[in-house]
Amino acid sequence: METILSVENLNVVFHTYAGEVQAVNDVSFSLGKGEIIGIVGESGCGKSVTASALMGLIPTPPGEITAGRIVFEGNNIVTMSAEQLRQLRGNSISMIFQDPMTSLNPVLSIGLQLAECFMTHQSLSKHEALNKAIDMLHLVGIPEPELRLKQYPHQLSGGMRQRVMIAMALGCDPRILIADEPTTALDVTIQAQIIELMKRLNQQLQTSIILISHDLGVVAGLCSRVIVMYAGKIVEAATVAELYSNPQHPYTWGLLRSVPRLDGSRSRLESIVGQPPDLLAPPPGCAYMPRCTYAMEVCRQEPPLLPVENDRQCRCWLVHESSPLRPADLLGEV
Ligand code: SF4
Ligand code: MG
Repeated sequence: METILSVENLNVVFHTYAGEVQAVNDVSFSLGKGEIIGIVGESGCGKSVTASALMGLIPTPPGEITAGRIVFEGNNIVTMSAEQLRQLRGNSISMIFQDPMTSLNPVLSIGLQLAECFMTHQSLSKHEALNKAIDMLHLVGIPEPELRLKQYPHQLSGGMRQRVMIAMALGCDPRILIADEPTTALDVTIQAQIIELMKRLNQQLQTSIILISHDLGVVAGLCSRVIVMYAGKIVEAATVAELYSNPQHPYTWGLLRSVPRLDGSRSRLESIVGQPPDLLAPPPGCAYMPRCTYAMEVCRQEPPLLPVENDRQCRCWLVHESSPLRPADLLGEV
């Protein structure tokens, strides 16, 4: 698969009054053309900051990209000028957020907002832009688009508003769509519809998608590969199928235990005990150690991201060749 985006050893730091927060720490991954990948983890794990970095949206100060490259079609996003970034966001990489209400202007009609977006980024006339708005609303499954154009955001349901955001994001024919918790604010039925919509649009338009979520269930429905982040670092990377059938990292086991099974076999959902670490003062060694049931003496040293069979990666001493226990020995407990 042709690579469209590669993130190489990315570090993002926030300089705060209380000290330095290492929000993203040595993160590397790639995205193929037409591929859908997921980035998963609890809030504060660095997934949204990673997404913002891809869009050139890290606020500086207090944020700073202290190391790494983000290469999109041969160009490094980290060193782009403000004007290059504006072009990039308008034409190449689009983003949709959890709450469409914060991204839509409440006093402008849906039609005007869509048209303005297409006029700015695609230099269409107002007439062309309005026609495009109708096409896009149609594409995302909004009935009677002509009527909707005249309505205001508050007149639409949450699911409809999220569709409008997707229409706006996709209307600029982006090569990459970044969706940050796009279904979290929606009820389960609408969630499923939005996921189906993104899947269909990916197939029709070949848009590459990065889905950011705290919910492994949502990710499983859409993605081919998953990156699990914890405390600013990648702790596991695998295909969805492998992550589900043979998860390697104790944190991934915890995430999986909190996902309902479709067949209803998991009636009791467990959340992971404890809190993610304070990134102002991260614990020494493995960041997951204070919450990990399997912690060993060696875990006082930070584990590297180790290669696992089938091109996978896992940041845990359990997968080290000299570990007395293997993830497979413990897997029955998940
Ligand atoms: Fe648990 Fe040790 Fe693995 Fe960290 S390195 S997740 S503490 S077993
Ligand atoms: Mg977030």
